Amino acid sequence: MKLFEFEAKGFFRKAGIPVPEGVVAQTAEEARKAYSDLGGNVVLKSQVLVGGRGKAGGIKFPKSEKEAYEMAGQLFHMQIKGVPVEKILVEKALDIKREYYLGIITDPDEGCPLLMFSAEGGMEIEDLASQKPEAIKKVLIDPRYGLFGYQLQFELQEAGLPKELHNGIINVARRLYQTYWDMDGELIEINPLVVTNEGKVVAADAKFNIDNSGLPRHPELPKRPAKNIEERAAELGLSYVLLDGNIGIISNGAGLTMAAMDFMREYGSSPANFLDLGGQATQAVTIKNGIKIVLENHNVTALLIYIFAGGPRCDVIASGIIEALDEMEKEKSLRVPIVATLHGRYNEEGMKILSASKSPYLHLEAEVEDAVHKVIELGGQ
Ligand code: GDP
Ligand code: MN
Repeated sequence: MKLFEFEAKGFFRKAGIPVPEGVVAQTAEEARKAYSDLGGNVVLKSQVLVGGRGKAGGIKFPKSEKEAYEMAGQLFHMQIKGVPVEKILVEKALDIKREYYLGIITDPDEGCPLLMFSAEGGMEIEDLASQKPEAIKKVLIDPRYGLFGYQLQFELQEAGLPKELHNGIINVARRLYQTYWDMDGELIEINPLVVTNEGKVVAADAKFNIDNSGLPRHPELPKRPAKNIEERAAELGLSYVLLDGNIGIISNGAGLTMAAMDFMREYGSSPANFLDLGGQATQAVTIKNGIKIVLENHNVTALLIYIFAGGPRCDVIASGIIEALDEMEKEKSLRVPIVATLHGRYNEEGMKILSASKSPYLHLEAEVEDAVHKVIELGGQ
C-alpha cells in the first residue's frame, strides 16, 4: 500500500525525522485558512500517489492568502498523470540550500534492506540510476543488526559531503530505517532530503510503501476503500486473482487451485479466477464470501468447488457449503450452476451431506476429472 506524502510525514514526525509544519486542506478555503494559520510563506503540495508532481505543476508557491486560495482552486481542478487532486498539503516553505536523496528499499536480489544515498537529490531516482549510477551510494543493511552509522558515514565521505552534515543525515537515516522496519516497509524515501540555509536537515518530500502482507499487523494505518474485486477479496482474507475465462474456481491450497486450473485448460475451457480459501475453508462465512466474490465477476457462467481436506474434515466443509448456499438462495444471490467435489478426510460423509441438499444449483461429482467436465458442460466454453 502506498501512503500519501502527508501520511508518510505523520510517521516521520512520530519517528523524530524533521518535517516542515503543515496542514491538509480539502478545499481552496481550507488552503487559504492554512496559509494564514501558518503565517504565510507556504508551499501547496498536491497529494497524489504518483511521482514527479513538481514537474507536472502540482506544487505551487503562493505569495498571499488570496493567491493561496486561487492556486489551491487550480490544483483541485487538476489531474496529475490522470489522478485527480483531492487533498493539498499546505506546508511551511523551506529555505533550501542543497537537495539530497535518501531511501531504503527491500532489495529483491540481496533479500535485505538496501539504503541509498545521493548528493544529487530532487531528481527521480530511476532517472539518476540510469543516467549517473555512480552518484548513488548504496549500503546493504543486515536486518539482524540494523543500520550502523559508520556504514553510511563512509558513503557520505565518498559522496564528498561536508563533515558538519554527517551526523544530521545519519540520524535521519537511522530513524528512517527504524520506521521502515517497524511498519513492514517495502520502500521509504526522502527526495529531496533538504539542508536549509540555516543548516538544518529536513525531509521535504516523503514516499512510503508498505508491504501488503504486513497490513494486518498495522491497524494504525489509514483504511482505504477497496477498489476492485481483488482488493475486496484481500480484505476478506481470500487469496484471489481475477483471470479472463468463464469458469469460476474455489479451492483450498494454492497447489490444488492451480491443478484445478490446469484441468480446466486441459479440457478446453479457461478459469475465471484463482481462489484459494486457505485454512479457513471450514467456515460457512468464508465459503459464502468466496462464492460471492467469484460471482461478482459477471463473466462467470459456472463454478467449480474443489476441496481436498488434509487437516480439516470434508463433512465440516460440506456443512459450510450447504449453509452458504441456503443463505445465498434466500438472498437470491446465486445465479450459476455449482459443481462440487470433495476429497480427503471424511469425504464420503461430506458428499452425503451435500447430496441431501435440494438446491437446484448444486451438482456433485466423486472424481475431479468428472467435476471439471461437468462444470464445463454446464458453463459452456
Ligand atoms: P515531487 O515532484 O512529487 O517529487 O515533489 P517534491 O516534494 O519532491 O518537490 C519537488 C521540488 O519542489 C523539490 O525538489 C524542491 O526543489 C521544490 N520544493 C518542494 N518543497 C519546497 C519548499 O518548501 N521550498 C522550496 N524552495 N522548494 C520546494
Ligand atoms: Mn520528491
